[in-house]
Amino acid sequence: MSEQTRERAPERRVVVVGAGMAGVQTAVALREQGFTGPVTLIGAEPHQPYDRPPLSKAVLLGTAEGSAFDIDFEALGITLRLGCEALGVRPDEHVLDTSEGPVPYDRLVLATGAEPLRLPDTEGVSGVHLLRTLDDAERLRPLLARQHDIVVVGAGWIGAEFATAAREAGCAVTVVEAADRPLAGALPAEVAAPMTRWYAEAGAVLRTHARVRRVEPGEGSGEPGHVVVLDDGSRLPAGAVVVGIGARPATAWLAGSGIALGAHGEVLADDRLRTSAADVYAVGDCASFPSGRYGERLMVHHWDNALQGPRTVAADIVAAAGELPEPYDPVPYFWSEQFGRFVQYAGHHTAADTTLWRGDPASAAWTVCWLREDRLVALLAVGRPRDLAQGRRLIQAGTAMDPRLLADPAQPLKAATA
Ligand code: FAD
Repeated sequence: MSEQTRERAPERRVVVVGAGMAGVQTAVALREQGFTGPVTLIGAEPHQPYDRPPLSKAVLLGTAEGSAFDIDFEALGITLRLGCEALGVRPDEHVLDTSEGPVPYDRLVLATGAEPLRLPDTEGVSGVHLLRTLDDAERLRPLLARQHDIVVVGAGWIGAEFATAAREAGCAVTVVEAADRPLAGALPAEVAAPMTRWYAEAGAVLRTHARVRRVEPGEGSGEPGHVVVLDDGSRLPAGAVVVGIGARPATAWLAGSGIALGAHGEVLADDRLRTSAADVYAVGDCASFPSGRYGERLMVHHWDNALQGPRTVAADIVAAAGELPEPYDPVPYFWSEQFGRFVQYAGHHTAADTTLWRGDPASAAWTVCWLREDRLVALLAVGRPRDLAQGRRLIQAGTAMDPRLLADPAQPLKAATA
């Protein structure tokens, strides 16, 4: 249907809650897709909307001042309401309740992201830090500059990136991880094993099977110093403690709204990112969606999902009556920069999928592939961006692969088809 002949839905008021990547991209995608009605973007943080990945990288090291999105909201006719917190939704009345009063909507998009998990009993304890917001990064930056000794709790993606930056800044770093390896929730033991070595190579101490019992005030080079007490009784002095033990969807404020939430508090969206409430969508870190490609519901806490999902939401909002936009069925993708390595992952795998190596994990560059029967379903590439780009396309296309060719790192991945 041409743009001229297509009859669009009447322009309604769209309210987007959460001014992070997913919220901002939803507002922008609406304009890109021709929506001319009022768009209001509401965000709890007082700052101009900003991007999070640089927070654990350039912003932390002080090589970038900030990471505000380079978007002219005014020119796009997007009304920003910052420092405004959503407190609840009344879907039957099409009203969002906020700290600034009720906001009526015709379409509401939930994009409130995720919030980091805390160590029990450490809320408000000075010197125990999280890394999710610009304010967090700004609090941590001077600690790195002063080269405090730092204990990082959690060897996940954020813990590894923070440890990388802290080592680069010259801090003594100990990472404590309750599991037997880094990234235990995301990767199998054989894939995480080579990553364990990265910590030592970078001069960081990694202690696995190390569960934090409590954090006490005490010695350490910071002000005030702390002691991290582990379950086995070990006492680790720390100038600062940084906690990176995961995040959960920021959806507590939806209690009582009737909007269906999943086991992790995520908004249960359908394949067009619509929620159980009429005219309410959910996108980004706060939501999960049914993946047709993988046959299960996915909750993806990565940047690319907060870029792609909004296009589906916008397409559904601007769709003319009777028009059905494409379902949201991405090949998930993310990257991480840790210990001088560029790590990229595309797809989704389970323990039942077959693991296949391309290259030596002791070397600087290698790839792991996961196959379901003869199809590539996921890959992790360390320093091999070409593998990632080609693999992502092969996963998307569902191409049958030849495992013998796939295992040869000298062969381009795209040539390893059956
Ligand atoms: P968010 O970015 O969390 O934005 C949600 C916004 O909603 C927040 O500003 C929040 O204040 C606001 N909000 C919450 N509740 C309310 C409320 N009740 N009312 C109003 N506003 C509210 N991904 C990668 O793929 N690669 C990386 O290298 C990478 N690095 C990262 C580094 C850091 C330090 C962090 C924290 C994340 C990183 N990520 C990375 C993940 C990626 O940044 C997130 O997946 C992405 O930001 C999700 O976007 P979002 O808009 O869904 O949520």
